[in-house]
Amino acid sequence: MAKNPIQDGLFTWPAEHPQLIASRCKGCQELTFPAQDACPACARRGGEEVLLSREGVLWSFTIQRFPPPPPFEGDADRETYVPFGVGYVELPEGIRVEGRLTENDPEKLVIGMGMELVVEKFTEDAEGNDLMTFAFRPAA
Ligand SMILES: [Zn+2]
Repeated sequence: MAKNPIQDGLFTWPAEHPQLIASRCKGCQELTFPAQDACPACARRGGEEVLLSREGVLWSFTIQRFPPPPPFEGDADRETYVPFGVGYVELPEGIRVEGRLTENDPEKLVIGMGMELVVEKFTEDAEGNDLMTFAFRPAA
């Protein structure tokens, strides 16, 4: 079965060391993730693609203890739902990226700790292919 990205254009895939794909405006230099055709700051079109650093620093986080409201493509069954961490990671490029965290124990998460990008299975599609998403895990 294939391992497909949950959405095209979010990260380089397949890749041994995947990177998030952002866009930088050629006018005002605004860096945006996910990449957008039109700059959210000045609306100029045609920004250039930038691959973001794979390591950053945890800026804030929370634990999603109950299934998020629709549209949520993961397991929303309250009996089997597994809480997950969500956080903002500040990357060296000066951008804060919101993403899932591999860790869901708040005791093991500290603001300012180093985090690295991983791509992991999120769910499966109707054909049984793995749908992969990006997440951050505490850096070794
Ligand atoms: Zn701009």
